[in-house]
Amino acid sequence: MIQDIYSTEEFEREYTYTGKDLGASWSKRKTTFKVWAPTAEEVKVNLYRGGAEGVPDRKEQLKMRREDRGVWTAEKKGNLNGVYYTYEVTAGGVKREACDPYARAAGVNGARAMVIDLRSTDPKGWERDRDPHAGAGITDAVIYELHIRDASSDKSSGIRHSGKYLGLTEKGTKTPGGSATGLDHIKKLGITHLHLLPFYDYGSVDEARLDEPQFNWGYDPVNYNVPEGSYATDPYHGEVRVRELKKMVSVLHRNGISVVMDVVYNHVHDAGAFCVNKIVPGYFSRTDKEGNFSNGSGCGNDTASERSMVRKYIVDSVAYWAEEYHIDGFRFDLAGLLDTETINAVVKEVHREHPDVLFYGEGWNMHTALTKEGYLLAAQANCRQTPGFAYFNDSIRDLLKGNVFDTSDKGYVAGQGGREREVEKCFLGLPDWCPSPAQAVNYVSCHDNFTLMDRIALSVPDASREERVKMNNLAAAIYLLSQGVPFFQAGEEMLRTKAREDGSFVENSYASPDEINSLKWDALDDPSYAAVCDYYRGLIAFRKAHGAFRLANAEEVRKHIAPLEGLEPNVTGFRILGGEKEEAVEEFFVIFNPGREEAQVCLPEGKWEIFINGEKAGTKAIGTIRKGRGKAAPISALVLAKERADSKKTRRRKRLKAAGAVTVLTAAGAALARAARRKKN
Ligand code: CA
Repeated sequence: MIQDIYSTEEFEREYTYTGKDLGASWSKRKTTFKVWAPTAEEVKVNLYRGGAEGVPDRKEQLKMRREDRGVWTAEKKGNLNGVYYTYEVTAGGVKREACDPYARAAGVNGARAMVIDLRSTDPKGWERDRDPHAGAGITDAVIYELHIRDASSDKSSGIRHSGKYLGLTEKGTKTPGGSATGLDHIKKLGITHLHLLPFYDYGSVDEARLDEPQFNWGYDPVNYNVPEGSYATDPYHGEVRVRELKKMVSVLHRNGISVVMDVVYNHVHDAGAFCVNKIVPGYFSRTDKEGNFSNGSGCGNDTASERSMVRKYIVDSVAYWAEEYHIDGFRFDLAGLLDTETINAVVKEVHREHPDVLFYGEGWNMHTALTKEGYLLAAQANCRQTPGFAYFNDSIRDLLKGNVFDTSDKGYVAGQGGREREVEKCFLGLPDWCPSPAQAVNYVSCHDNFTLMDRIALSVPDASREERVKMNNLAAAIYLLSQGVPFFQAGEEMLRTKAREDGSFVENSYASPDEINSLKWDALDDPSYAAVCDYYRGLIAFRKAHGAFRLANAEEVRKHIAPLEGLEPNVTGFRILGGEKEEAVEEFFVIFNPGREEAQVCLPEGKWEIFINGEKAGTKAIGTIRKGRGKAAPISALVLAKERADSKKTRRRKRLKAAGAVTVLTAAGAALARAARRKKN
């Protein structure tokens, strides 16, 4: 089998190419084509008038010349901007036509690449466009996960460019009842990073039939370096999607929102049809000993990231999106199929020019047929090997709402007992697998699985709607106040549901119609939904206002936070020192009470202000406790802050600190615990 040689040292020594010029390099006077095809006997470039596959409009065929390291090259004089092309590769006696793996633009459905003058697609002021959160750390981010189409496919969005990139550039859009939608809503919510489901060119939506109802999440890559055509106003002309995506990024940036791209390097739409696998037969995908495609992804193939030119391809691709489209973060689908060396190479390369770009992904344990020995996969268990890369924290997800694989499993917020210690670890950003809050992406809902509200309804069918909303809000308070990186699915803040007409819920809506997937913005016209949204906004604002909730590493966490001991069963609580992280606040008390009865905690002396309770959250105090007890209502969070005190208290704090904050806090915690055990009466 030809695949057997690809992962050998000899092959890699001979054919690893490090140049940055693969693809079609355009200039006004000429375009140079370069493609890596080490096993080819002959390679040609087909130049076409149009971008649609199968149309007999070839203008010319160029013969390519073999150079070093398996790279083939051809040059064409003149201005080729807008010319479509493919490679015709003969390898092992078989001739195949393929799109350019380094295509920057493509025609409809991505079958033909297009030569493009990228500067002509830049929006106004693009050279001054910056990540609005440059200089911030990953734990300062609040991430909102959205599918481009979902934002604007429901009529109540009032958005003109329904389902398009440009839908996220529209200002002043409203529901019939006057609630803000789309961009205005997201901006008002206060999130820092908008994470968009895949928008590279994927295969599951037919771009030639956009007048018919079609929906897909898009986890099926066709062209890694080309934007998806179905989100553009015109998928036929290659430059349109490029221009409109950049416009979207620039408008989001101007509105203070950073952009995260969901990337799926772990598998491709169709391994046999994927361009790299046509040009270098089978090179991109892992095969087992029998020659079958490895299928850890469950999507028919796994990417052989451990091969030198696959790794280079992934590194080049991510760096390209960061550089050309000013993308501020990358979410790696099934990172557990990629090797840690590749992940680290990506982070290093992108951070060279763009040090603020965020990296995180799914670190589940995967079974895959690695083609070389000695490689680790980028799974949670190996997270210490990828310190610049964070992982979805399924520990907090399953603790709070119940195991995703067992819908009868109740979560902590629904009153499931015995989870306090684990919830505490997650609040500290240090679940068992994780050495730093900077590597824990805390969440309870994403596009996968049931929405939070649907999930709560399934696990506690007897609870009233009012109670379920409280559980929803308690879950939000916990992960939005936890150390780490908070993340949520768009619409969680308005109790999103994916309910069918019969009242049952869709668990996997990857290809469900808009009616299931779209955000129903007019829910916000109902005061009970608007109140939940206000609560989320308040939690986010509070988190952003207080550095003590956004600590950068485990050492800071240990220095600033101590869990309260001996609270009522199921109740968790924390004492958080403002310390050097806070100008105005000396310390915080945080209580989470999932019980059906009020929980109390005795407070140290001083004036305590309430910023978050079960009803409200924000940066303005909603009440004051002068002495005694903090009371957390049933199924609610309570967050109190004590202003930086008079000189006497400051001196006391300094003494505490000098004695070693952790020890003293533990002792203080024990005293508090004793006090907390005393009931109200
Ligand atoms: Ca597509």
